[in-house]
Amino acid sequence: MNALNNRLGRRSFLKIGALAGVFGATNALASGEAIRPATELELLEAHKGSVNVKTICTHCSVGCGVIAEVKDGVWIRQEVAQDHPISAGGHCCKGADLIDKVRGTNRLRHPYEKVGGKWKTTSWDDAMSKIATKLSEIREAHGPDSVMWLGSAKVSNEQSYYIRKFAAFFGTNNIDHQARI
Ligand code: SF4
Repeated sequence: MNALNNRLGRRSFLKIGALAGVFGATNALASGEAIRPATELELLEAHKGSVNVKTICTHCSVGCGVIAEVKDGVWIRQEVAQDHPISAGGHCCKGADLIDKVRGTNRLRHPYEKVGGKWKTTSWDDAMSKIATKLSEIREAHGPDSVMWLGSAKVSNEQSYYIRKFAAFFGTNNIDHQARI
């Protein structure tokens, strides 16, 4: 698998995966099981008055093209940007479901704290205050190099800059990028 990846590169590999999917679909079409023409209802504009906004996936620094369909300020549907110069109509699994970052029902919407072995929601102010206090205690007891900071592939250059600054002010060079950890 490694040798195959080395020869093909990640994007080519994904494209071959997509082709394999098409062949599978063609077989299913031949057997008349999985594919059918769209109904008239399905061809109607489902979200009248929506607008398509070209944007990029923020889940890694590749920055694949996404078409976000927005209605009344709410992101309602997602398509790949076929004409994007980098991704050329391709997405990995993270980007393909990017919209679930907004609408996913299992997404955490509040900070949680484990109290007596059970998770309970808490306020942002309370969470920040407790984390700051704990970090100060750790630095006091064990020194600034006793912690490590991880950046994120989901933040901008400017955010990366101030995460780096924050680690420096904390007093450590223990900071790394998050990608593929
Ligand atoms: S779709 Fe995947 S490869 Fe493209 S930017 Fe998003 S996470 Fe990165």
